[in-house]
Amino acid sequence: MVASLSAGALVLSGLSASGAAASTPQPPAKHPTAIGFGGAVASVDPEATNVGLGVLRRGGNAVDAAVATAAALGVTEPYSAGVGGGGYFVFYNAKKHKVFTIDGRETAPATMPNNAFIDPATGEPYRFTPELVTSGVSVGIPGTLATWDSALRQWGSLSLGKALKPAAELADRGFVVDDTFRGQTLDNKARFSQIVPTAKLFLPGGDAPKVGSLFKNPELADTYRMLGKEGTSAFYRGPLAAEIEAVVKTPPKAAGATLPLMPGYLTTSDLSKYKTINRDPTKVRYDGLDVYGMPPSSSGGTTVGEALNILQPLHLDKMDTPQALHTYLEASALAFADRAAYVGDPAYVDVPTKELLSRGFGAERSCAIDPDHAATKPVKAGSPDGKYSQCGKGVATTQRPDTEGLSTTHLVAADKWGNVVSYTLTIEQTGGSGITVPGRGFLLNNELTDFSAVYDEADPNRIQPGKRPRSSMSPTIVLRGGRPFLALGSPGGSTIITTVLQTLTNRLDRDMTLPEAIAAPRASQRNTATVTAEPPFIDAYDAVLKPYGHTLVASGDAFTSAAEIGAVAALEFLPGGGILAAAEPTRRGGGAAGTVKQLWPR
Ligand code: GLU
Repeated sequence: MVASLSAGALVLSGLSASGAAASTPQPPAKHPTAIGFGGAVASVDPEATNVGLGVLRRGGNAVDAAVATAAALGVTEPYSAGVGGGGYFVFYNAKKHKVFTIDGRETAPATMPNNAFIDPATGEPYRFTPELVTSGVSVGIPGTLATWDSALRQWGSLSLGKALKPAAELADRGFVVDDTFRGQTLDNKARFSQIVPTAKLFLPGGDAPKVGSLFKNPELADTYRMLGKEGTSAFYRGPLAAEIEAVVKTPPKAAGATLPLMPGYLTTSDLSKYKTINRDPTKVRYDGLDVYGMPPSSSGGTTVGEALNILQPLHLDKMDTPQALHTYLEASALAFADRAAYVGDPAYVDVPTKELLSRGFGAERSCAIDPDHAATKPVKAGSPDGKYSQCGKGVATTQRPDTEGLSTTHLVAADKWGNVVSYTLTIEQTGGSGITVPGRGFLLNNELTDFSAVYDEADPNRIQPGKRPRSSMSPTIVLRGGRPFLALGSPGGSTIITTVLQTLTNRLDRDMTLPEAIAAPRASQRNTATVTAEPPFIDAYDAVLKPYGHTLVASGDAFTSAAEIGAVAALEFLPGGGILAAAEPTRRGGGAAGTVKQLWPR
């Protein structure tokens, strides 16, 4: 075999020494939908899903499987997730019949000034892309490893070492590069090539790994093994912590680098103080179901929940498609107005979570929807003050720009005991900050770009030292009669919220099966003048939504080549104990769903 070896990654071309094609590495088979018993996993990636299923088959529970799957995604989805990032873990505990959550969000360093995103030379914010996203300034204290450890200690049956083992083996063995991985690498090539350890790891020989080649990451395998043996202290204290501080302070520039690669504020002291937080989930009742989500510091649970409360009295299920879509878009805009006005890290901001999720507030907001006309955006925020009339007057608020993207990843896992995990994790941008910790095989996040760039006392998401930037991640679990019915979530920046909302309403109100609800084209109204929509949504609905006054514009941004919104992974619990596991049929190259005792496909 011809092997091009760099210190960080080994890429095998699949050719024998004689030049003849050897047995070309094959990716595992993957199915976007599976039905079976005894537990299930769905994620964007077949290797990761298989790792989770393997853990379940060996007697592990849903929490063990979720952590193992997440660690495997750190290998195969290194631009979306990994120990350099953070996330939110939602868990239904079958024994206690209760939903728990872990907030593993990155935090701002203790010395981060509130003008960190302002260029002193101009007094204006730095450009978002590429300067701010590719900088030490945007790196928050990672929470992912602490989340895995906390979940395993509270509810798992495996040690951290055992849960990380299959992912370490996968990193050693390598995975077959697909179009998505190559495409994401190419999208990042210009900035990755400017940072020495990142170019070494992800651009071996100066190019993105070829489709069909095997991508190995032995350094990440070693990191996982070390963390498994020594525990979280090896990350949050000790040599690795010092290396993280060093690389954030002085991102190693390649010769000829044009990016400023501004130094960040994160220190070993920040790392040593990092803690995950167990929080009570958000809960709303919709269509007779209990919908549980992630409370602040994520805006996911409050915004999805408020939108459902707005929709509840309007009965989407009784509407035709154009009316239902119009109503979904308007409810989403209203909930986003309230998200912008009221939601931030609750340790720093008084977030009216209970009122935002109250039936009364939802009903008051609901009557702002004109059944025939789209409101002029941005709509005003409401008053979640406990005093609700038939129709409340809005209060002016500033709708600050939101980012969207295909970064981040979501997974779901369930076991034979009835436990369920819905877990979204991220390093923010696809490729995070672009900064790899030298010799350790993983990228650091740029999550702090989720703060508003300009400091404004009235903004709940303003930069403050030690604070968690507001997230949109919306890992969700739906119970029916107190038992799991659905579990779902998605990547996609602020479009995560609309993707989860749209998938839920598709499934619950619009007569779609779960796979249909996931496959349906998406649109996202986040309180802006136009509606971001996937091209197939525009093709299908532009003509019927125009008369309401909706202007649809194609999704996709300058940074990513894809025009997709989200990448859902979900489970539905069927009568009789069966599980339907469902991932994307085509978005992000198609996801992978599997069950422990699979009935279909076989
Ligand atoms: N940083 C985003 C959030 O927390 C997730 C990144 C993405 O999905 O684009 O909401």
